[in-house]
Amino acid sequence: MKALVKTAAAAGFTLQDVPVPTIRDNEVLIKVRNAGVCGTDVHIHDWDAWASGRCRPPFTVGHEFAGEVTQVGSLVADVKIGDRVTAEGHIVCGRCHLCRTGNSHVCPNTQIIGVDRDGGFAEFIAMPATNVWHLDDDVSFEVGGIHDPMGNAFHTALEGTQMPGATVLITGCGPIGIFAVGICKAAGASRIIASDVNPKRLELARLMGAHDAVQPADAVAAVKKATDGLGVDIVLEMSGVPAAVHQAFDLVRAGGRVQMLGIPAKPMEINLATEIIFKGVTVYGVVGRRMYDTWIQITQFLRSGQFDPRPVITHRFPLEGHAEAIAAIKSGEAGKVVFEIG
Ligand code: NAD
Ligand code: ZN
Repeated sequence: MKALVKTAAAAGFTLQDVPVPTIRDNEVLIKVRNAGVCGTDVHIHDWDAWASGRCRPPFTVGHEFAGEVTQVGSLVADVKIGDRVTAEGHIVCGRCHLCRTGNSHVCPNTQIIGVDRDGGFAEFIAMPATNVWHLDDDVSFEVGGIHDPMGNAFHTALEGTQMPGATVLITGCGPIGIFAVGICKAAGASRIIASDVNPKRLELARLMGAHDAVQPADAVAAVKKATDGLGVDIVLEMSGVPAAVHQAFDLVRAGGRVQMLGIPAKPMEINLATEIIFKGVTVYGVVGRRMYDTWIQITQFLRSGQFDPRPVITHRFPLEGHAEAIAAIKSGEAGKVVFEIG
């Protein structure tokens, strides 16, 4: 089969012929139809410090995908050949303290597909049946293939927040930030202010329902105006850029919540006393998606018709166009970039 492979500890990907994966008794084989390309794939492509510290080539890349089940292992009961599915890409142990207390999204034994084992930028992928998520008949494989980053956005927007009626600032309108705009809207936020330095992405944020989509320098005025100077109830920090992190704590109201998804490239300084403690702010660190509360939310919001992620997808490529796909992400001109595989 065709697969996009990280062949060696150096920059680049290679599209090559590899054997179709063999499945274990508890796994299913999925024929991949669509897949999403993510910033993590760019890190692996460029072989930066994080990637070289974490990944062990050779392996097939890609962790966002959807497709059709073509084979099931002997112990699999609730997934059938022909099922239309996507999957949670974090494979957890199910046995540790965290897994057993409903916190498997932070299981210390997590293995990520396309990072720690073979991923979904291929014609087929083997997945444990426990990680499989069924798609409704009217959900396309294309939308199925972006459940993972949509899930990041749902997790950030809805975990521990009181979204109905809330005022929200979203710092960073990458694909996940733009999904979050639509989710906050569907969940009843009364005012959504989105910030980014990139005009193309601000346009997408407006398209998804942001009331204000502004440059970071203009976020202060937008928040003050929308909240009578108080600050927003909730900030979703979705950039990982230090200036935006400080702005998040500056513009959240006292007693508000800051949900942190963006990953700063290196350690950064925060004034705990003034930015968090004296403001009585609650901070939530987001890791992946909650298993499987977040997945249930994705499906139910899609069913409601109130949230439609499709406008976020701006670029589509075959696997052969992998270099163009990576370039589109790096250009900053793209919303969500996807592969059309089978
Ligand atoms: P992304 O990294 O492209 O989005 C970041 C956006 O922030 C860009 O559009 C950029 O222009 C914008 N930005 C830059 N400076 C800014 C500023 N000062 N104020 C506001 N916005 C600014 O794409 P993404 O895929 O949506 O990822 C968002 C972040 O989430 C990244 O940091 C990524 O590493 C992280 N992430 C975290 C998890 C997790 O589980 N915690 C999962 C996936 C991604
Ligand atoms: Zn575990």
